[in-house]
Amino acid sequence: MLNKLLDLIFPPKCPFCGKILQGKTPVCNNCMTSLPYIKGKACKICGRPVEETSHIICASCRFNKTYFEHAFIPLIYKEKAKDAILGLKTAHPYYAKGIAYILADKVINSHHYTSFDLITFVPQDKMTFKNRGYNQAELIARELSKILNIPCVPTLRKIPGGRPQHTLSAAERRENVKKCFFATENSYSGTALLVDDIYTTGATSNYCAKLLRKMGFSRVYLAISMIRTDD
Ligand SMILES: [Zn+2]
Ligand SMILES: [Zn+2]
Repeated sequence: MLNKLLDLIFPPKCPFCGKILQGKTPVCNNCMTSLPYIKGKACKICGRPVEETSHIICASCRFNKTYFEHAFIPLIYKEKAKDAILGLKTAHPYYAKGIAYILADKVINSHHYTSFDLITFVPQDKMTFKNRGYNQAELIARELSKILNIPCVPTLRKIPGGRPQHTLSAAERRENVKKCFFATENSYSGTALLVDDIYTTGATSNYCAKLLRKMGFSRVYLAISMIRTDD
């Protein structure tokens, strides 16, 4: 009842174009077909688009050890996808629903799809969480959890400090993450699906995957809404 009332006052909007949604789907029909999806040849491990003539594993995955089996990434961080993620991070936590819908579609329809025991997410430090009021990766994870019907559990910890990842080179990022992210308990097993909002060099999610493996998971997959391809 309350939800219906809220929908009347604040009708749900498509996170990608801002149009009021007509049906129950959290993304409008037009955006479903016109988003900047990753198309064509992509790295078998991280899903990054690669040249048609290049190796099936991208340079980054060939030269750095990866601790995850595969990354499900549907979108490229540009155009309407970029608008939606910036909207989610700044003012519209409910955009997570539509973003998770596109992510779930990618996971379910991939030939890498497998059964996951648990969904978890890349954590935020307390200060960032306090300033923003929520962790956008957690919101996407919780929506994905509802769609896939797999429990969502916080597993990792992040402390403030370290340098902002976007100011660092790929090698510096790999060192920097070691100072910020920590494992919690070691009593897990099975397959984890680790959720984040944006994949840049993969340093953060790969390190978090390494921690999850240490915590007992035998396999870790990544589900990340979009990838930056411009740096
Ligand atoms: Zn739309
Ligand atoms: Zn790769």
